[in-house]
Amino acid sequence: MNYRKSSIKQSIPKELRYTRQQFDREFPDDDACLEQVKEQRFPGGMAVCQKCEGPRKHYRVTGRTAFACATCGNHIYPLAGTIFEKSTTPLRIWFQAMYLMGSTRCGISAKQIQRETGVTYKTAWRMFRQIRSLLSEPDMQLEGSTVEVDEMYHGGKRKNGRGRPMRGDKQKTAVLGVVERKGGRVIARTSNDVTGDTLRGFVKEYVLPKSTVFTDEFASYNGLDQMPGMDYQHKRINHESKVYVMGDVHTNTIEGFWSLVKRGIGGVYHSVSQKYLQTYLDEYSFRYNRRASGNLIFPAMLAKVSEKVSLKPSSPVAENQNV
Ligand SMILES: [Zn+2]
Repeated sequence: MNYRKSSIKQSIPKELRYTRQQFDREFPDDDACLEQVKEQRFPGGMAVCQKCEGPRKHYRVTGRTAFACATCGNHIYPLAGTIFEKSTTPLRIWFQAMYLMGSTRCGISAKQIQRETGVTYKTAWRMFRQIRSLLSEPDMQLEGSTVEVDEMYHGGKRKNGRGRPMRGDKQKTAVLGVVERKGGRVIARTSNDVTGDTLRGFVKEYVLPKSTVFTDEFASYNGLDQMPGMDYQHKRINHESKVYVMGDVHTNTIEGFWSLVKRGIGGVYHSVSQKYLQTYLDEYSFRYNRRASGNLIFPAMLAKVSEKVSLKPSSPVAENQNV
């Protein structure tokens, strides 16, 4: 319901637009993309040189994805430790994949990126997996004092209207979600079960004390208002008796997010294995939590490339990079 409402939003304010033309202008080739990664990791071209041990300006080395120290000539590789490090796929195609991923609401399939860029399906699929790995935000905390909590079930066959599995239905994976009413940020996590302990633990982890928590009538939410020290106000809607909205007592916001995920996974990705479900949820949450920033989602994804750099302690800035 909410999904449909917000998808009508046609015009994105100018300052929140990031068009394909802009992308093509900013990133015409691999060099421009490399320059961007370097700038993110070493603003102003300044990096501490491993050899002469000072903050030095670095200049591009022709024909390599390297930059050389202006003082001693030692090389740094801005792609080291990033998701691009071991890839033989041109950097601009990676950027293009991220751009496309950031420009849709429902997600984009590996098939689409294959068509658009000419890489193989396998390469496209691998790129997406890597990009999704950047989008998880495990430390996110909600700040809203009014939240909706609900679960979704993925896979298997629906056993009833609400999609809750019968006891022992191993086909389905549960996803727990919480969304702020105001601000509207969402957190969604796969879960092994939907017991009262698990659901209450989930709420405790992400929802501030003294918040008002809206859920449906599912028994596992019992006792939310009796958790020591949390002081939650618990309001429940009875879906079973077909009462979906009663004043402000509803879970439409989180259900709007679920329908976005379900449409995407059903319509774009066709099937998603349990193993990768969390990474898809991360992708949807990432976009959803930034929907107020128009389609500036691509720059936000790009920023993650340098935020999530994993350097092996033995090779601070890999010298013998496999390009
Ligand atoms: Zn140096």
